[in-house]
Amino acid sequence: MSETKSSKRAPMDLATSTKSYLFEACKRLDFDEQTFRLLAEPSREVRVELPLRCDDGRIEIYSGYRVQHHNARGPYKGGLRYHPTVDPAEVRGLACLMSLKTAVVRVPFGGAKGGINCDPHRLTQRELEAITRAFVEKIHRNVGVNIDVPAPDVGTNAQIMAWFHDEFAKIYGYSPGVVTGKPLIIGGCEGREEATGRGVAIVIQEYAKHRAEPLEDKQVVIEGFGNVGRHAARLLGEMGLKIIAVSDSKGAILNENGLDLDELGTHKDSTGSVAGFSGAQDITPDELLKLPCDYLVPAALDGTIDAATAKKIKAKVVVEGANGPVTFDADPILKDKNIAVLPDVLASSGGVIVSYFEWVQNLQQLPWEHELVVQRLNEKLGKACQHVFAVATGQECTFREAAYHIAVQEIKDAIWAAGF
Ligand code: GLU
Repeated sequence: MSETKSSKRAPMDLATSTKSYLFEACKRLDFDEQTFRLLAEPSREVRVELPLRCDDGRIEIYSGYRVQHHNARGPYKGGLRYHPTVDPAEVRGLACLMSLKTAVVRVPFGGAKGGINCDPHRLTQRELEAITRAFVEKIHRNVGVNIDVPAPDVGTNAQIMAWFHDEFAKIYGYSPGVVTGKPLIIGGCEGREEATGRGVAIVIQEYAKHRAEPLEDKQVVIEGFGNVGRHAARLLGEMGLKIIAVSDSKGAILNENGLDLDELGTHKDSTGSVAGFSGAQDITPDELLKLPCDYLVPAALDGTIDAATAKKIKAKVVVEGANGPVTFDADPILKDKNIAVLPDVLASSGGVIVSYFEWVQNLQQLPWEHELVVQRLNEKLGKACQHVFAVATGQECTFREAAYHIAVQEIKDAIWAAGF
């Protein structure tokens, strides 16, 4: 297979970064050019204009996106992101990552992603509801229980999924399986909200088991204290690890003896940020990424660990709780420094695994207890970790290379089995 422009230049928007990782995987598997292109190109990209009448009477115009990467293994699946940085390249990269993620952990979905380039913190509840309903009005033909199943992502939550479902149901009737991450009362799943954070904790647990290392008192640094980072911190704390530093979009804090997570939660809820917490010292978000620790968990946005940052990282293991935090040019730097990376397609897959459980419950109209969700998440993610670790050992490659190897082979086989 000849070199692509993307892998040579490797500019680091998420679509290029993901495509470059994919290209390397196809090369190692000796796939031809056509196969790489089949795997790399999304099957559909939709952009819609979303005019919003704001509460003060102004009209703002936003762009909504849905990129459907592939569906050979099942319906397209992936989150909806509301964030000012949402653009076609980011959504395209995230959609491809979802295809890989669902394949690594073997849930019967393809991959997709969508979003709106808005700042949800600046919109009122009425405005958020209006823009969500407007989005459904424009894309309802492209989504559906067996077609494409959105879910929460950065800047979206169960309430937004509820509005999405309600608008969809006005046209197609009751269809809870059209979105996952819904509120429990209308067909959501126990443990869905904490699922991505729980997945991060399970992957760390499996890694420690694989290395025959204890978890107790290992030092953890978490970038991002949103849905993923906060739940991961709580669950890792319960497992006996010490969370020494966390950050959010407004600041970062450090306490080398371990943060009191209950008090920190109260502080975050009352002030809106982790910054200024009395049980820790304020540091810069940049300093946080460079702290010596056992596990560094980037759980914020993509591209936060680029080549320059990677050179300064002192963590022993990087656990990608976010999608795409380590750019393609940063990855070999971490490898050279012997820093293990537990890749996003594995470490951030807890959310979509529990989304799959929610979808199954919606199809069967048979809700599961929280305990069963946790047990099945542990089993499914545990198996996926063991598979990735075994391939990495067998092929003497990184965990990311092993995960891509598994996913790419799986997707290719499904495309070929289905035919054209
Ligand atoms: N947004 C989450 C992710 O990136 C969940 C996607 C889903 O559940 O479909 O993995």
